[in-house]
Amino acid sequence: MSDKTLVCDVLIVGGGPAGLSVASTLPDDVRTVIVHQDHEIGLPVRTSGACWMQDVERLGIPVEMCKRMNIHDAYSDNEHTRVALGKEIPVILDTPRLYKWLAEQSDHKDRTLLLGTKFLSTQQRDDGLYESRIRARDNSYDCVISKYIVDGSGWHFAVLNALGLVEKPERLAVGIEYEYPLGDNADDRVLIFFGEKVLAGYGWAFATAQGTMRLGVGVIQPDTDKSPRDLIDAVVRDKRYLDRLELKLEGDPIVHSGILPSVAYDDRLVFGNVIRCGDSANFATPTIGEGIRVCIEYGRLLGELLGKAVKTGRHGPLRAYERRCRRKLKRDYKWGFLVNTRAAKYTPEQWDASVRRMRHVGPDAVAATFRGEFSTVKIAKILVTVVRPLIRSRLRRIKSRIGLT
Ligand SMILES: Cc1cc2nc3c(=O)[nH]c(=O)nc-3n(C[C@H](O)[C@H](O)[C@H](O)COP(=O)(O)OP(=O)(O)OC[C@H]3O[C@@H](n4cnc5c(N)ncnc54)[C@H](O)[C@@H]3O)c2cc1C
Repeated sequence: MSDKTLVCDVLIVGGGPAGLSVASTLPDDVRTVIVHQDHEIGLPVRTSGACWMQDVERLGIPVEMCKRMNIHDAYSDNEHTRVALGKEIPVILDTPRLYKWLAEQSDHKDRTLLLGTKFLSTQQRDDGLYESRIRARDNSYDCVISKYIVDGSGWHFAVLNALGLVEKPERLAVGIEYEYPLGDNADDRVLIFFGEKVLAGYGWAFATAQGTMRLGVGVIQPDTDKSPRDLIDAVVRDKRYLDRLELKLEGDPIVHSGILPSVAYDDRLVFGNVIRCGDSANFATPTIGEGIRVCIEYGRLLGELLGKAVKTGRHGPLRAYERRCRRKLKRDYKWGFLVNTRAAKYTPEQWDASVRRMRHVGPDAVAATFRGEFSTVKIAKILVTVVRPLIRSRLRRIKSRIGLT
């Protein structure tokens, strides 16, 4: 074994919210290595950071790491709805700060964090251990030997792909954001826009906790061959459109971009001693692609159960992880994916109808749809609020036809 080899119990590939959350709940003495190809945790920014106050509180995220949004607007080409979300309060997370905080949760543990280090490939040896090739920025290490590997590499599926376990997803949500000074824009407003400018996707804008404003566009490829860069540039050039959205852009923007898988939820998460978590397990909600809170919650669950597997040498805790994720996510994500694939084909007229509908559907149902929650009760509420006005108008028409009104 060369002096460039690290030996550990668990190798985590990817220092995003999923990988860092797994590390945070592994027992202190479980030897863990995280390889993260970026040079800093949380940077570059590849996500918007939208979340909900209830999740921030539930997950124990310090509230100063988020900005509360009190005004919520939805636009299509010919409609505008100021959206009521009931008791749900959207927030924007300061993700570089949050991810650093997530990393700090395992600083005291037997954990080595290798930044600027890329996982290249792995193979299982005869003794069952995994020997993984890595490329470190400073050339310090080139090999990690571990009993378990967690794939937390996001849409790269780096480990699953290297072992031929799961193909890299072909359907992807590709997003770009321009970040401007806040200027005169409201500091507590989030908006979402649909229609001609962003078919097979949607656009958004919001104020951040850092006194800036971000405007973004995301589309699903290959459902459309349009590039998000071209689409956002067209929005930025269209002053009348920006006026309608009540957005004022000043100066040259900082550009962020990111990718996440947009495929049906696959409940297989455990492949022997290789386990996936986060975007490499399709954890982002299929409705609006919100993954951070899900990565944190189920990343922590995996850390806890994987810790038990390491300590006992038994596989049961890993099966429990898979089972618990399936129980919580499978139905919601099945419905969410249905919404996703239908919405990706919407015409501008259908988006007009959708944005109009947001006025009539109750706040709980709108929030549930944005959150990607489709319990039987919530589906029933959505159906009732959508169907009730239709039935009423039919009845009115029938009554007028038979002369009752
Ligand atoms: C444009 C966009 C906007 C989004 N907006 C929101 C939002 O508003 N709210 C929300 O909750 N979610 C949002 N998401 C989704 C959210 O960002 C993801 O669900 C979440 O980041 C997934 O976390 P992760 O840890 O699984 O993967 P990632 O955050 O992708 O982290 C994985 C890390 O692994 C590293 N890595 C990859 N391959 C290797 C390798 N071979 N070796 C070493 N390191 C590697 C990557 O550099 C990356 O930093 C958005 C996504 C995109 C693309």
